[in-house]
Amino acid sequence: MASQIKTTPYWWEFSAPRDPGGSVPRHVDVVVVGGGYAGLNAALTLRRGGASVAVLEARDFGHGASTRNAGHVSSGVNLGKGSSSAVRSPMERSLSPAALQAVREEAAASFDFLEARVAELPQGAFYHRSGRFVGAVSARHFAGLQDKADRLGARIVTRARQREEIGTDHYHGGMVIERSGQLHPGRYLHGLADLAQAEGTLLCAQCPAIAVTRSPGGWTVMTPQGPIACGRVIIATNGYSGPLLPWLRRRIIPAASYIVVTKSLPEGMMDRLLPTRRTIADTKRLLNYYRPTPDGQRLLFGGRATLRAQDPARIATELMGRLGRIFPEIADVGIDYAWTGTIAFTFDFMPHLGEHDGIVHALGCNGSGVAMMSFLGHRAAQAVLGEGASAFWNLRFPTVPLYRETPWFLPMMSGYQRGMDWLEAWHR
Ligand SMILES: Cc1cc2nc3c(=O)[nH]c(=O)nc-3n(C[C@H](O)[C@H](O)[C@H](O)COP(=O)(O)OP(=O)(O)OC[C@H]3O[C@@H](n4cnc5c(N)ncnc54)[C@H](O)[C@@H]3O)c2cc1C
Repeated sequence: MASQIKTTPYWWEFSAPRDPGGSVPRHVDVVVVGGGYAGLNAALTLRRGGASVAVLEARDFGHGASTRNAGHVSSGVNLGKGSSSAVRSPMERSLSPAALQAVREEAAASFDFLEARVAELPQGAFYHRSGRFVGAVSARHFAGLQDKADRLGARIVTRARQREEIGTDHYHGGMVIERSGQLHPGRYLHGLADLAQAEGTLLCAQCPAIAVTRSPGGWTVMTPQGPIACGRVIIATNGYSGPLLPWLRRRIIPAASYIVVTKSLPEGMMDRLLPTRRTIADTKRLLNYYRPTPDGQRLLFGGRATLRAQDPARIATELMGRLGRIFPEIADVGIDYAWTGTIAFTFDFMPHLGEHDGIVHALGCNGSGVAMMSFLGHRAAQAVLGEGASAFWNLRFPTVPLYRETPWFLPMMSGYQRGMDWLEAWHR
C-alpha cells in the first residue's frame, strides 16, 4: 500500500510550490525572510504602508508549513495546558491580568484579520466559516470543557446529542466553536503571493538569507545571489528557521507533523461521518484533527509530532489506525496522500513577535498558525512602519540551558504527553 501513497501534500495537486520570478534587488526598504503566511502578510502591510519590500524564500514559494497544513482556521492561542483550565501556562503566570486579557483579545482578532484577508483574494481560498467541533476524549475532559466554552463563546454538546455533529460515539461529548473555519492552504498561500506581487513586492524564490549583518545605513542580508542592503529585516521562518540567527534558534523547537488524506469516500459516507462538515479536533495534548477536503469527497486526518521527520507513508498506517478507531467504517477506504511539514514549538507554547538586536521576528506557531501567523506577520510589518502596538510585542521569549536546536528533551516531552493521553484513555 505504502508505495501507492503520494508523499506530497494533497493541496499541491492544485497549488504546487512555485517561483514567482522576482529578481533579487540590491537595495530595498525592508527584507522579509520566509515566504509563508507570516512573511507574505508582512509584505502586503509594508507595501500598503509605502515601503519597498523583498520577500526571500529559501525554496519555491509554498515550500513551508503554509501549504502543508490542514487548513483549520481558529482564533486564539493555547494559553492553558490540555483540557484543564486550572493549570496555568508559563505565559499566563508571567503576565498581569490586564496584559493577559490584551493577548487574548489580540489572538481573537487574528480570526477577523484572516477572514478579511481571504476576502481580498481574487481567486478566494475555498474559505468558509464552518465551525469546529472539539471532542472530549474522557469524561474528565468533558467536564473541563465548560469553562473553556464560556470563555470562547462555544456551545457544549452532550454525548447524547453528539451524533448530530459527528458519526461516532468515540467522544464523551464536546463543544462547538462557531467562530472558526476551513480553507485550502495552498490557494491561500498563492493568493497572498499573487496579491503581494501585484502590489509591488519582489518575491525572490530559491534565495535563502545566509547572513544578516549591520551596515551603516541599516542591514545587509547576504544571499547566494549577492548582498541586499536594507533599512529593516523581518524574520518569518517559523519551523524552517535553521542556523541564520542563533538567538532565535535557541528559542524554536522544530517538529515534524503528519497528515493523511483518504481515497474518495463511498457514496453517503461523508454524510454519516461528518454531517455538519465542521472541522474536528479532540482534547488530547497531542491532538488529532480532521476535516473534509473542499470537494467534500475525502477525509483529511492529522496528528502526531516527531523530533525527526520520518517517512510519512509509514506513519500513515498509524494515523489510519487512529481514524479507524473513531470511524470503524472508514478503515477499509485507504489512503492516497501522506505528508509531513515542520511546525515550530516554543518553550511557553506561545507564538512570538518582537525585536532582538534590531531584527524583527514573528514566529513560533506551535502547530496553529493559519490565522495567528498571518496576523503576527501583519503586526510585525506594522511595528516596522511604526503603527499600532501589539500585546505580543517583546513578551519574554524563553529558552532552556544547553538548547541549540537539537531538542534532547522533545522525546521526553512528547513521551510525557503521549503517556498522559494513554493514562487518561486507560482511566476512561
Ligand atoms: C502538518 C501540519 C498541519 C497544520 N495544520 C494547521 C491547521 O490546521 N491550522 C492552523 O492554524 N495551523 C496549522 N499548522 C501550522 C501552520 O501551517 C503554520 O503555523 C503556518 O503555516 C506558519 O506560517 P509561517 O509563514 O510562519 O511559516 P512557513 O509557512 O513554514 O514558512 C517559513 C518559510 O521560511 C523559509 N525559510 C526558512 N529559512 C529561510 C532563510 N534563511 N531564507 C529564506 N527563507 C527561509 C522556508 O523555506 C519556509 O517556506 C499546521 C502545520 C503543519 C506542519
